[in-house]
Amino acid sequence: MRVLGILAVVVALLGGTSPAAHAMDPRWEFWTDDTTYYTSPWFAGAHRIMVPYGCTAAPYYDHDPRCPGEQGFHHGIDIAMPCGTPLLAGKRVRVLDHASLGPAYGENPVLLRNRKLGWDLVIGHTRTVFVAPGDRVRRGETFARANDSGAPDGCHLHFEVRAIGGGLDTARWPRPLLGLAPR
Ligand SMILES: [Zn+2]
Repeated sequence: MRVLGILAVVVALLGGTSPAAHAMDPRWEFWTDDTTYYTSPWFAGAHRIMVPYGCTAAPYYDHDPRCPGEQGFHHGIDIAMPCGTPLLAGKRVRVLDHASLGPAYGENPVLLRNRKLGWDLVIGHTRTVFVAPGDRVRRGETFARANDSGAPDGCHLHFEVRAIGGGLDTARWPRPLLGLAPR
């Protein structure tokens, strides 16, 4: 019983330290004042927003006439998370071919659709993906892992919500779909 007690203390201590702090990626740069760690039905653990949706001073995007000064427009929301973080289906989705997305999202991004709810969801910078075009993914199922494919700023995921079959110009405010909740 004594050994079990010590084990419990060790486990509690390990659980008490921040796994995110341990796995900090030195390439991360946060372009927001929001230091909240968020959970989501779409990923394991709790993580910080790195680049919010909309006009941003982050230097990775071309200047956009909608934005002040030299700022560009970020069409999704970037969430910093260690490489390997499991990605789960927050809603029931069908997997589409990602060939139409272009190189900015990395070599193996994910394109998902929920026709009933009326959106496509692009997830950029994944490398390991467990599903293929045509697959149906049930809510809660793990279908990929976070990575840094095509990303200069470390392991993170780019979540971008589009109209069904729509291009970049149909990208919209992604937070309602992500369901971010403070840890
Ligand atoms: Zn992004």
